[in-house]
Amino acid sequence: MILSSIRNRILVFSLAATLLPSFILGWMYFQQSRQALLDNTAREMKAVASQAERETLLWLKEHLYELRVFSGSYLLSEAMGNYRRLQLEGEENPQDVTDELKSYLSLVRDKYSYYSKLLVFDNQGQLIVQEPEDQEEAALPDDWQAQLESKHAVMGEFHREDSTGQPLLMLGVPITSENDNVEGVLAAEIQPVELLITLRSLLSKNENKGSGARLMLIDSQGEVVLDATDENRGETGGKWKLALPPDEARGLAPYRNSQGKDVLGLLMPVPGTSWAVLMEKPRDLLFTDIERVRNMAVLVVAGIVALIGGIAWLLAREIIKPLGELTAAAREVAKGNLDVTIELRRKDELGFASSVFNDMVGQLRRSRERLEKLSNTDFLTRLPNRAATLEALSGMLKRCQRYSRVFSLLMIDVDHFKSINDRLGHVAGDEVLRQVASILREQMREVDIIGRYGGEEFIALLDETDEESAQVAAERIRRAIASSEITYQGSPLHVTVSIGIAVAEAGNDDAESLIDRADKAMYHAKQNGRDRFELAAG
Ligand code: GH3
Ligand code: MG
Ligand code: MG
Repeated sequence: MILSSIRNRILVFSLAATLLPSFILGWMYFQQSRQALLDNTAREMKAVASQAERETLLWLKEHLYELRVFSGSYLLSEAMGNYRRLQLEGEENPQDVTDELKSYLSLVRDKYSYYSKLLVFDNQGQLIVQEPEDQEEAALPDDWQAQLESKHAVMGEFHREDSTGQPLLMLGVPITSENDNVEGVLAAEIQPVELLITLRSLLSKNENKGSGARLMLIDSQGEVVLDATDENRGETGGKWKLALPPDEARGLAPYRNSQGKDVLGLLMPVPGTSWAVLMEKPRDLLFTDIERVRNMAVLVVAGIVALIGGIAWLLAREIIKPLGELTAAAREVAKGNLDVTIELRRKDELGFASSVFNDMVGQLRRSRERLEKLSNTDFLTRLPNRAATLEALSGMLKRCQRYSRVFSLLMIDVDHFKSINDRLGHVAGDEVLRQVASILREQMREVDIIGRYGGEEFIALLDETDEESAQVAAERIRRAIASSEITYQGSPLHVTVSIGIAVAEAGNDDAESLIDRADKAMYHAKQNGRDRFELAAG
């Protein structure tokens, strides 16, 4: 489990502590600025669209007003009066009147270039004249009479001129006689030049510039009748059908338009007409700024996380390393090695724990030494200790004198033992002493005694053993050690001993002199090359 180590727990905690607030705050910020941006965009788009809607209405009104001025001309109403009278008299197409009408219309058209065509219909909706002359006969919308009743004006749908693809709108106003009878309709096919210019200037104003925004007038079928977007200038036919935002969406609606672009659209109906203003803004451009900020934020957070993670890792190591040292030292103590101390490098809680540990091991060491003094057994080798060995020696001397018996004392000293300590450490030295002691014990008969005299020196007391047998025993011991497989941590060590032999003659020796003679003999063995035994002079 990943959380089972302190280091990982610290790492996970610090990363979570960095990441969670960053992400939560970042997410909140992102959502908020997104919403703010959307609100802002909606407001701006609404402002532009409603202005476009007002301008469209205004434009319509101005043109109707203008047409009413022309239709109110005396010339026109008189001509229409004549036309009706002549028709009643049976004249099908009174040439005089139509010529008169024609010249009037062409006069008007010369002055106002946005009239693509001017037409006069009679009060039955039959075309009387159109200027310029055309093969095709234009007609009023089907519901023209109803429109006249309700609005006092006729309004057609936007359509496109066949030859140029220019959008055109038919508007009509009644021609009335003096007593307010409707004599006919004056209609005009109008190019929405001024409206287009107005809408374009709306679009090119303010933040919409260069934002890829589109501003359009669409009809009830979703057909684009006017497109104020610059790139679409002059575009004709084919592409006019729009994918519209859902009908109920009067606010900002996201959708994919006919060009396959994801856009935000705002639809605003123009009252009194079947048209609506549609404004579109591409979504991607809108959100690039926010997304750039978001990506920056992610980068910054990643940087912080790396930094905090690094610091947490270092902190964790600060704690783990001394803990590891403490654990290793405690394990040594558990194995029985009381010579460990931890180096004190820190002044914090862990430093304090280490110093308490050192105190504890010191106490243990001292009480072990006290115990050792009280007992007969050497703690390291489990052999009789110096005191016990000397006591056994004096017992043997007494028996020797009383019964005139002979026995031998072997002083056994490990060769170059200091270099084992120096090379491999004190613990290794102890281990070698234990193994040497165990081999020595194996070499003893039941009646013999082997004890640790001190340091790396052992004394063997061989009961009923004369000079000759003592030499045989010493050689056996020497060989046993030299050929033994003493190892430390798996690697074999070559250990040898030098042995001095002193034979106790009845009545001639006390303990001190016997040991002294054996010691001297042992030194001879050292001088003669070690890994051998020497007999003490008699
Ligand atoms: P030599 O062949 O001349 O006997 O050389 P040596 O190195 O064995 O002799 P020396 O007397 O110079 O060194 C004995 C060393 O034994 C010195 C002492 O530190 C070490 N020693 C004594 N008692 C112990 C013990 O209980 N454990 C360990 N590890 N070392 C001990
Ligand atoms: Mg020695
Ligand atoms: Mg030695």
